[in-house]
Amino acid sequence: MMLLFILCAVVGALRDVTGAPLARKMVDMSYRFDDTTLHFPGTKEFEIIVVRNGTMEENGIWVQSEEYSSSTHVGTHMDAPAHFTKGGLTIDQIPVHRFIAPAAVIDITAKAQLDRDAEATVEDLLHWESITGQTLNETIVLLKTGWGKKWNNRTDFFGTPENDATKLHFPGLAPDAATWLVENRNIYGIGTETLSFEKGATRTYPVHQTLLGHGIYGLENVANVDKIPIYGAKLYVLPMKVGRASGAPTRIIATYPIILDPPSSSN
Ligand SMILES: [Zn+2]
Repeated sequence: MMLLFILCAVVGALRDVTGAPLARKMVDMSYRFDDTTLHFPGTKEFEIIVVRNGTMEENGIWVQSEEYSSSTHVGTHMDAPAHFTKGGLTIDQIPVHRFIAPAAVIDITAKAQLDRDAEATVEDLLHWESITGQTLNETIVLLKTGWGKKWNNRTDFFGTPENDATKLHFPGLAPDAATWLVENRNIYGIGTETLSFEKGATRTYPVHQTLLGHGIYGLENVANVDKIPIYGAKLYVLPMKVGRASGAPTRIIATYPIILDPPSSSN
């Protein structure tokens, strides 16, 4: 009886006023890995080679298979703490409970439209907590910047037509906000629509150093951030379990009750 009561209480949160289960929406937040996949200047692009695609002569059976080669940091991918921290956790060592968590979507689209190098500040993080009534603890923070719409325009996405890391211009998390997060909250990960979760041109990567240095993972080139609500979505973040690696291609899926659909959502 007690178990039934607990089950009803848990499931009850997912039902509407008529008692019907709330319909949920699923959003694929990863880009496809192919020859259009964008990557940070200096990293090896994603390449795929068809090994077999046809009927085997000896037995008439159809077979398709491929080989690929790539940096571990292309397209939608995870940065493990080891990326910028000597002795930090590698992809295969990150505890899996940190891969399924609520999304906290920090919307800085308006200021990113005015300034390509705009940064999400402590005020933006506190604003999210104040308007949602939620805590950032144990969430995956996603920066919403409008950059996803630029994915098919490399120059606009990079902020430069050149393949030069010193000339990048896109928004990110402010170094002060990264410090505030590690001192005041316990987040699992930080994600961004852009190539990097700190603004374009940097030589010292202070935000990477601070967050990865505290065991927080990063997610870069996250797709469809504008298709999920600013709170109420749960993320399933599934990096390829590459042994001893600092990064890995990652499939990210969001699910949320359909009543939380963002007004701007087109699907
Ligand atoms: Zn990376």
